[in-house]
Amino acid sequence: MKPFFSYCPNCKSTHFTFENNFRFHCSTCNFTYYHNIAAAVAIVFTFEDKILFTVRNVDPDKGKLDLPGGFIDPNENAEAAACREIKEELGLDLQPKNLKYRTTSPNNYPYKNVPYRTIDIFYECNLESDVISVVAKDEIKELIWIKRSEIDLDSIGFVSIRKVIGEFYSN
Ligand SMILES: [Zn+2]
Repeated sequence: MKPFFSYCPNCKSTHFTFENNFRFHCSTCNFTYYHNIAAAVAIVFTFEDKILFTVRNVDPDKGKLDLPGGFIDPNENAEAAACREIKEELGLDLQPKNLKYRTTSPNNYPYKNVPYRTIDIFYECNLESDVISVVAKDEIKELIWIKRSEIDLDSIGFVSIRKVIGEFYSN
């Protein structure tokens, strides 16, 4: 894996190791940096036998199926992040008690040449209506309800989402 730093950010040396883009260590000045994983949330909305997917309007994986959610902010807990993202993306007011923890799964999120890696925390939320619309039209092209028996895993972009949907929600 090619390092996404060309020089040590501390001393500009090119004598460094950055194994697997995780632990950066400069042998000239001893600067060390851990490119730790980021935490993100994904929400699986269910209604009857259907699952709600978003269609991504931005890279990575533009045009592919995704779930509502996003990165957790510093000092924010995962449930609050999920509620905030749902409000921003879909305009729904949820409380943490509406969310049921399901599982976690690691993901890759390449953005502007930086290979971020995440741990995605999955919550489930059962809705009493399938009437739901997009607020964040810049991020989400459209919403699609898909029957569990008709989910095409290959149309899902992120590996974490594909894995969890395949494991728990498609049949
Ligand atoms: Zn250095």
